Amino acid sequence: MSFAVSFTLRERRICALVCLFALVFGASERCFASGSIVGNIVKKVPNGEMKIALTFDDGPHCKYTAEILDILKEYNVKATFFVIGSNASKYPELIERELCEGHEVENHTYSHVYLKKLSDDEIKNQLAESESVVTGIADYTTRLIRPPGGIYDDRLLSIASELGYGIVLWSVDTRDWEHKPPAKIIECVLRDVCPGDIILMHDFIGRNSPTPEALRVIIPRLKEMGYSFVTVSELMKLGEPCE
Ligand SMILES: [Zn+2]
Repeated sequence: MSFAVSFTLRERRICALVCLFALVFGASERCFASGSIVGNIVKKVPNGEMKIALTFDDGPHCKYTAEILDILKEYNVKATFFVIGSNASKYPELIERELCEGHEVENHTYSHVYLKKLSDDEIKNQLAESESVVTGIADYTTRLIRPPGGIYDDRLLSIASELGYGIVLWSVDTRDWEHKPPAKIIECVLRDVCPGDIILMHDFIGRNSPTPEALRVIIPRLKEMGYSFVTVSELMKLGEPCE
């Protein structure tokens, strides 16, 4: 299937100007040294290398995670998976595959509850249980949290800091979980992308995910535009992470 999302050279120049404008005038954002990620919020990492990070939340899913991994492998792209501990425990082979193929696996809590509603101890348990599932599957330690719904407060920041975690959100939201047509997801990414963006997608969606189909178009198109892909941790080494 082909999509009617076409970006001319002129449109790409406009996009680059928009990115530059956002970089110069986006003064409200707070940036900090990548070494101080613990207890901070990261939404993007502006850099001069046209590097971006694809992220996938809520998995693993028996069908869609495998499909997405196949596509990433085909294009030699590394991504970051923010996994739910209870799903990881059902599909340990997919966590192993993610790590084996060079992707990053990070913490999206054990049961995808909104952390703001929980006590401090319950928050710590959510993070620890998810962490322990991943560590039990592979000798690997998660260091980043993506709170469900992107909801955080000072209390979560303080707990994250105490536990040595950084918090990662996103700068481009595809809202693929709404089961939008693939063309809408493609348009959203190609229209909004800037160097250093962290793009939010999902590898677990309840029924008929549009994400793999969209990804098959998004990756080659972004490559044509000069972008390359790194994990979130790698991205954070390339510039100053920003809220
Ligand atoms: Zn989620």
